[in-house]
Amino acid sequence: MSFKVNDMAYAYSANNAIKEKGEYGGVVTTIMKYLLEESIVDGVLAVEEGWDLYDAVPTIITDSKDLIKSAGSLHCGTLNLAKILVKYLNGARDMKLAISCKPCDAMAIRELIRKRKIIEDNIILIGVNCGGTMPPIDTIKMIKNVYKMDPNRIVKEEIVKGNLVMTSDEGIEKGIKIDYLEEENLGGRRENCRRCNLKIPLNADLALGNWGVIGDIKGKATFIEICSKKGADIFNKVVDAGFVISQEPSKKGIEIRSKIVNTMLKQSSKQKEKDFKGTTGDILDVLKIYKEELSKCMKCYGCREACPLCYCEDCCLETEGPEWVPGGYTPAAPFFHLTRMVHMADACINCGQCSEVCPSEIPVSKIWATVNEKIRETFQYYSGINNGDIPLPFSEYEDSGSRTIKDKSK
Ligand code: FAD
Ligand code: SF4
Repeated sequence: MSFKVNDMAYAYSANNAIKEKGEYGGVVTTIMKYLLEESIVDGVLAVEEGWDLYDAVPTIITDSKDLIKSAGSLHCGTLNLAKILVKYLNGARDMKLAISCKPCDAMAIRELIRKRKIIEDNIILIGVNCGGTMPPIDTIKMIKNVYKMDPNRIVKEEIVKGNLVMTSDEGIEKGIKIDYLEEENLGGRRENCRRCNLKIPLNADLALGNWGVIGDIKGKATFIEICSKKGADIFNKVVDAGFVISQEPSKKGIEIRSKIVNTMLKQSSKQKEKDFKGTTGDILDVLKIYKEELSKCMKCYGCREACPLCYCEDCCLETEGPEWVPGGYTPAAPFFHLTRMVHMADACINCGQCSEVCPSEIPVSKIWATVNEKIRETFQYYSGINNGDIPLPFSEYEDSGSRTIKDKSK
């Protein structure tokens, strides 16, 4: 069978060691192996376990023998790989790369391709479904205090039928309703992930996940959806080469997958209603509502540094200027955030990196998402998702890469 865009399949690796170590059949890792061994890419940008299960380390792999270290899903891996791609890998200008990516990694990468910061022809996006990531330290505390288990002995954490299930190396399994954990503030997913409305990375070249895998191969294979011509070409090659074994997905499995996703999207919409309650989403309205919280900003610039979409080499917020800001060189809190908003409001993809690093615990990600939601409603522009077909709300980029501001009111 020859796969084409929108086709779906069940798949697992033909390499037993990778199949064993991989999360659901080791297909992502095996595709990466094929791409490296056939010199289709020069390197793989993936994530591997560092100190423990709660420590996700971004890594660049150039020898296919090392790939096995990156197999498996790290649910406390909260990083956004787009930042690493732009900051340390020159936007894939110097090497061809395959990248394992969650939906938010893929969104940030797509947005940066549009902004000429990443070279699309030099990357292959191998997407993984994501129901949400969990903050490492809070998760360790939750496992100790709520699950009464030893975090060092946990080998697997996954959401099964609405329960967050922890499994230890002694085979002990404990599940608690994720809704309960999150509502009671006992743990669960990061707050931005609860709002996220892209669970299957259809904006990548391939999207892989366990949702919809049923029957004998449940837990041993992944569901794969082909999202682009590039993805179809690669998947056909790995199957033809015998690296990956594929089979037709069951009709029931496809239905289950879409049912799960729809349930998760409804939950995200509910969360958004809660998060955006009491605001129109207009920038000034948001600044007013969060005035007190924003006043706690210590201008550490952490949010700017962590943001995958804040990429200007010369930032207008640097301490040397601007001179019109009262109170010395560092911009006052509203100016700092207003300036970032003007630059970023149409680009924010709700990855949560800003809230992650903020020492003042300002809900920066929620504030940004509130404004971005308004942009989505007003311009129908979904950053990182519908690139190309809809113009950027505030600016367009010409082929040369230079920025031209267009007056949208005309
Ligand atoms: P493997 O061959 O094991 O490869 C996994 C790849 O994912 C590796 O390249 C690894 O580097 C990369 N990876 C691991 N952790 C991260 C991370 N934090 N960020 C970016 N890349 C990472 N599938 C579902 O159907 N439902 C879900 O709710 C779901 N949630 C997920 C949440 C997270 C945080 C992740 C990373 C994956 C999730 N998946 C989910 C996808 C699923 O766990 C498998 O990754 C997928 O089925 C492919 O399996 P595999 O055996 O082929 O992958
Ligand atoms: Fe201000 Fe927090 Fe951003 Fe630091 S990370 S600049 S304290 S909002």
